[in-house]
Amino acid sequence: MVRTTTPDRDYVTAWIDGEHVLREEHATLLPVIDPATRSVIAELVEDDRDMVDRAVMAARRAYASRTWSDVSVADRQGTLRRIADLIDREADELARLEVVQTGIPVSFVRSMHLPRAANNFRFFADYIGQRADHAFEQEAGYRTVTRREPIGVAALVAPWNMPLGLGLMKVAAAIAFGNSCVLKPSEATPLTLPAACALMKEAGLPDGVVNVVNGRGDVTGAALVSHPGIDALSFTGGTQTGRAIGVAAARNIRPVTMELGGKSANIVCDDADLDEAVSGSIAAAFSNNGQQCLAGSRLLLQASIADAFLERFLAATRALRIGDPLDPGTQLGPLQSQAHMDRVLAFAAAARADGCDILYGGGLTAGWAEGNYIDPIIVSAPSNAVSACQDEIFGPFVSVLTFDTVDDAIDIANDSPYGLVGYVWTQSIARAEAVASRLRAGVIWVNTPMARDLRAGFGGYGNSGIGREGGDACAQLFTQEKAVITKHVRSTPL
Ligand code: NAD
Repeated sequence: MVRTTTPDRDYVTAWIDGEHVLREEHATLLPVIDPATRSVIAELVEDDRDMVDRAVMAARRAYASRTWSDVSVADRQGTLRRIADLIDREADELARLEVVQTGIPVSFVRSMHLPRAANNFRFFADYIGQRADHAFEQEAGYRTVTRREPIGVAALVAPWNMPLGLGLMKVAAAIAFGNSCVLKPSEATPLTLPAACALMKEAGLPDGVVNVVNGRGDVTGAALVSHPGIDALSFTGGTQTGRAIGVAAARNIRPVTMELGGKSANIVCDDADLDEAVSGSIAAAFSNNGQQCLAGSRLLLQASIADAFLERFLAATRALRIGDPLDPGTQLGPLQSQAHMDRVLAFAAAARADGCDILYGGGLTAGWAEGNYIDPIIVSAPSNAVSACQDEIFGPFVSVLTFDTVDDAIDIANDSPYGLVGYVWTQSIARAEAVASRLRAGVIWVNTPMARDLRAGFGGYGNSGIGREGGDACAQLFTQEKAVITKHVRSTPL
């Protein structure tokens, strides 16, 4: 059984130095709410500046003690792999907790989030086994060795849409290179990451290497990212929040990577395999309840196939099973919060006012009023300039535009403040290559939605972020280069 709270009360608490720590005095309690029923499932004890300081100091002590940073690569790999095995062992219970706090269907959580959570640790275990220092001799008599050392203590700030999968990518990367860290889950979904910390302890990770603080972004998050004891920051979340975190990082002169929002184009050309394009576009738009940074939320259809594609796309949308996210047959669950649901619905109203045609949805799901359920929304937009095509909505919301030539499609796709990912469906290598090379986005998927190899960096152009997450990209953030120059020609005989 995975324990997420203190033994006797349903409070979500900080995890510091390998144990739950309950802030007793003057604590603000925040409800953790099940989006399917709107019932309170736990109370989160918000950590203030003092608690954040305690967590950072625990991480600093763990780092200074060298009990983790100095262990051999083989031993670190062993611990990382044991953590992955324990996540697999507890996958059903972790998935249940993830579903009740996010509303994301269990089939998706079980098939995507949990395997990803474990794979983060296996990937970085493998990755650190392949790294090597560089040695070179530029000047006769001197040997220069450049090596990468752990950066120290990392602040890791995670979003609510994939708490384990994304939060543990940061943890696995940080600790694989020998660092300690303080993680702040989203206050909306704080249940599973502390549960994973308990598994890390069971796997033999020394206390204090991974710590968790909880609370709202402007309270706990702001205290963490501005703490002078933090050596590097890794953030995934909204673009507005990214600006605040960038300012904090700049003030302390600390490196930061930011995985931010998106408004990605999904380009369907007239030579695409329509069956594959339709099912791939449904996945790109609506999996994870449409709450994914990489959503293909701007559907760009070549005019000659637009009607045929839309007919199938609407039929596939109509066939999606909306319901209880714990039901294995459910494909679309409730949105994570009522406020977020209202925000997504407000975009449908704004789209109408901007002259969009509502092709599907736009309101609550009949029969599911007790939770944050809406029907998926598809609108046909008069131009790419409207809010439905420019703003990140972060829900099951697709804006459709048509184009005449692939050059036009690329221009429309690039007319965005974001640049996270892009999708293209075509049988032509030349078209795929043109889109792949000319789209201003960090990841391009050709004839597939969302395949991911952690060796490849993930991240965006423009307002979608700074830096990447992946093998080499994480090595860059979580380690520092040091050059050691040794004179090896002796002036005296041996
Ligand atoms: P958010 O920015 O509201 O919150 C993310 C995290 O930042 C939370 O833990 C929050 O408490 C914290 N935070 C908020 N204000 C802060 C501050 N001033 N200082 C420090 N921390 C602060 O984002 P969200 O609503 O949790 O997640 C949705 C957003 O995340 C979307 O925009 C989505 O596109 C983005 N996202 C991006 C990626 C990616 O890889 N690019 C992946 C998933 C989600």
